[in-house]
Amino acid sequence: MVARANAHVRYPARVQLVAAMNPCRCGYGGLGKGHCGKAPRCQRDYGNRVSGPLMDRIDLQIETPAVTAADLALPPPIEGTAEAAARVARARAVQETRADAAGEPAALYLNAKLEGERLTAVAALDDAGKALLTRAAETGHLTARGWTRTLRLARTIADLDGSGPIRRVHVAEALIYRRTAVDTGVPA
Ligand SMILES: [Zn+2]
Repeated sequence: MVARANAHVRYPARVQLVAAMNPCRCGYGGLGKGHCGKAPRCQRDYGNRVSGPLMDRIDLQIETPAVTAADLALPPPIEGTAEAAARVARARAVQETRADAAGEPAALYLNAKLEGERLTAVAALDDAGKALLTRAAETGHLTARGWTRTLRLARTIADLDGSGPIRRVHVAEALIYRRTAVDTGVPA
């Protein structure tokens, strides 16, 4: 939606945003053998340039250590792209099966699209998972938006795990990817 004084124009868009940033302004801080001479301020100031509301919309936030020369000599990982793609396809098929069972279009039952009562029903969140999610929300580490997005992500993690209900372990993993929740000490 582009809003200007005289007009609002809505463009169709369905995007998947993937973004990367350095650990700090100089690029040498963060995890591993950082050589940033101004840590931790360099990292904090640089990170604060991305607003909280924007970060709240990024479901998977992962810190990756720098690749070393030794890493380049390692053998390739056991699970390659093809194997990962097959797992994703299986999880996607689970979502389509749920749509079929409900007699509704598959697009409404993709985890990323779930909302409201449909999300609650599909989530099938068990008591321990709900307790963990509730604690994250009650301690102020999860916005209302974050609750919904964490639940959707936990649903996908559960689907990848072949689990019917969302269990505590799935919620915990989803919260780990929400860096703002982890930084403030929500236990996994
Ligand atoms: Zn730095």
